[in-house]
Amino acid sequence: MKFNEFVYKRVELEEMKEKIRQITEAVKTASDAEAQIAEIYRMNDLMKEHATADALVYIRYTINTKDDFYVKEREYNDHISPLIAEEVQKYNEALLNSPFRSALEAKFGKVMFLNLELGMKGFSPEVTELMQEESALQTQYQSLLASAQIEYQGGTYNLSQMGPFTQNKDREVRKSAQEAMGRFFDAHQEELDEIFDKLVKNRTEQARRLGMKNFVELGYVRRQRNCYTPEAVSNFRKQVVEDLVPIVCEIKKNQAERIGVDELKVYDDSFQFPDGNATPQGTYEEIMEAGRRMYTEMSPETADFIKMMFDRDLFDVVAKPGKATGGYCCDIPGYECPFIFSNFNGTSGDVDVLTHEAGHAFASYMADKHVDLLDLRLPSMEAAETHSMSMEFFATPWYKLFFKEQTKKYELSHLEGTLNFIPYGCLVDHFQEIVYEHPEMTPKERNEAWLKLDKMYRPYLDMADMPFYGRGAGWQRQSHIYATPFYYIDYCLAQTVALQFWLEMEKDWKQAWEKYKAFVKRGGTDTFLGLVAGAGLKSPVEDGCIREIAGHASEWIKEHEL
Ligand code: ZN
Repeated sequence: MKFNEFVYKRVELEEMKEKIRQITEAVKTASDAEAQIAEIYRMNDLMKEHATADALVYIRYTINTKDDFYVKEREYNDHISPLIAEEVQKYNEALLNSPFRSALEAKFGKVMFLNLELGMKGFSPEVTELMQEESALQTQYQSLLASAQIEYQGGTYNLSQMGPFTQNKDREVRKSAQEAMGRFFDAHQEELDEIFDKLVKNRTEQARRLGMKNFVELGYVRRQRNCYTPEAVSNFRKQVVEDLVPIVCEIKKNQAERIGVDELKVYDDSFQFPDGNATPQGTYEEIMEAGRRMYTEMSPETADFIKMMFDRDLFDVVAKPGKATGGYCCDIPGYECPFIFSNFNGTSGDVDVLTHEAGHAFASYMADKHVDLLDLRLPSMEAAETHSMSMEFFATPWYKLFFKEQTKKYELSHLEGTLNFIPYGCLVDHFQEIVYEHPEMTPKERNEAWLKLDKMYRPYLDMADMPFYGRGAGWQRQSHIYATPFYYIDYCLAQTVALQFWLEMEKDWKQAWEKYKAFVKRGGTDTFLGLVAGAGLKSPVEDGCIREIAGHASEWIKEHEL
């Protein structure tokens, strides 16, 4: 069945709650582990229904944020999700109190109970209303960004469509494009500050009601961080500042020389080569076709996977007005498939869709086949981002299909970009930690904190005199800060593991691939660090891990400098 034939069926709140109550009762009165296992599967089917409805609404809403039907259904889902969570909470509690826990752990693994415990800590009916308000604020932010109509050089563009101008060969074009976007954010300064301020207050209050010190603690619980602490992350960030930032400064110095500027300004940051960045060669259809060929050749599993993606039309990647910004991969469990969303704009980012997002999709496809419980299919997000970021590297032998004569340029920029990204990701994480440790900060103080941290993580970057960026508000473009708090360090931890897969590939691609396949097959049946150790790789939060990897990568970059 093709995506446009997938049927959206609204989840009726009372009916759903009643079914959950029945299952919860059955769990409580079960006389043996077998009976409880049967109920776990019944609950699984029910949650699949809910997740499917949620996914279809989300996907169709983001494809067209002006579609009245799905706008309403999204509001409806935002409203009912916490109410369903209240019922699920009671079910979780019943499972946690199971006298057959060891038999259940033997069947499903320990991580299920670890996550149930976090789920219990992170939710109570006392925060339902706040969670509803939180969702509404997130939607408000997303709609505001999707509504952007940037007047530029006689045309009108959304934020994604502005991408190519920000990488233009002409420095004046890059500058004026960033200024035009900056003016959009400046024009909505009050609204953006207000939404965020409400989010911080809301989240802090949720933490308080759940008996926690602040939202940092709750954020970790909500992100299912079941194997490392904020202290471990803080230590990771410290190592990034000490061992990676100096390397990135070196890369940036080279970049400035390469593109012929004295000082790297914010509008030069993503412009890597004097004759322009590597761009995909060919039309949209040709790029998609190259993706199909790559996965067909890569392995028998990826060949089956990509055939399914095309046969069922599981892509929406062309930028159009009204479409939400960004890109994502979303599972539709009821139809046993993922869906890939993006906004192609002619930059190398388009290829990321076929490597990064398709990496998520491939992992989900593999987990579907090997893990039967929905809750154990998707790991926590650092592990999921490891799937996708590693796939970006596994695609290396096929880059030429996308980039033709610009392949070497792309390969270099991809690895440089990988290293450059980690300090930025730490900056976003560190900023959020400060914001939620000090919820009383004013919008101005938040911007000042951002500027100060930016100097520490990106000392090479000059933002002075630019609208929006200059006043320290650049973080407001980073949707994760609004929508998914503390979801950013995940990328940094994941990148650190993906780089280890890359190092293995450099020695033996095929062997690395077998390891990777085993890693994705396990889905979410273990913690992130458990999965990493299982693949024979180093924990990214271990002392010295960043230093070692960054050292190898910087050697490679020196050898491949163009
Ligand atoms: Zn991703």
